[in-house]
Amino acid sequence: MSTSQLYHNQDLRGLKYLRTSYAEGKTTYHGVISDSYTKCSKCHSHNVVRSGGVFRTLRLLPTGTRLNLLHLFIPRVVCKKCGTIRQVNVPFLEGQKSYTRALARYVLCLSQLMPLTYVAVLCGLSWNTVKQIL
Ligand SMILES: [Zn+2]
Repeated sequence: MSTSQLYHNQDLRGLKYLRTSYAEGKTTYHGVISDSYTKCSKCHSHNVVRSGGVFRTLRLLPTGTRLNLLHLFIPRVVCKKCGTIRQVNVPFLEGQKSYTRALARYVLCLSQLMPLTYVAVLCGLSWNTVKQIL
C-alpha cells in the first residue's frame, strides 16, 4: 500500500505512509503526518519547530472482514509566530476519536442497512462507539 492508495481508499489526507505489518488477523499501517500538514493548530503558521509527539493507533475502514489499523505519529510543534506548543491537527480525525472520519461515514451508511450489533462487529468497534457515531 502506498501513500496514494491510503489517501484514495481510506481518505487519509496529510499522511505519509511508512510501512505495513500483519498480525493477529489485522493489517496495521504505519505513518506520520506529512510535512505540509505540520503546522500550528492555533494560527496555522508553518513557522514551527518539532518538539516530540505521540503515537496513536486508529481504526480504519475494514477490508472485507479484515480489520485495518493505523499506527500514527502525531508531532508536537512549537509555533514561532504565536508561541503555542501543541500537537498538529490530524485532518482525517475528529478531536480525540480513535477512528477516522471515513470509518464514521461508513458506520452511518451501514447503520441504515443492518442492526448496530452487526455494524459494530463488521467495523471492529464496540456497540457503544457505533451508537456514539450515530
Ligand atoms: Zn501559532
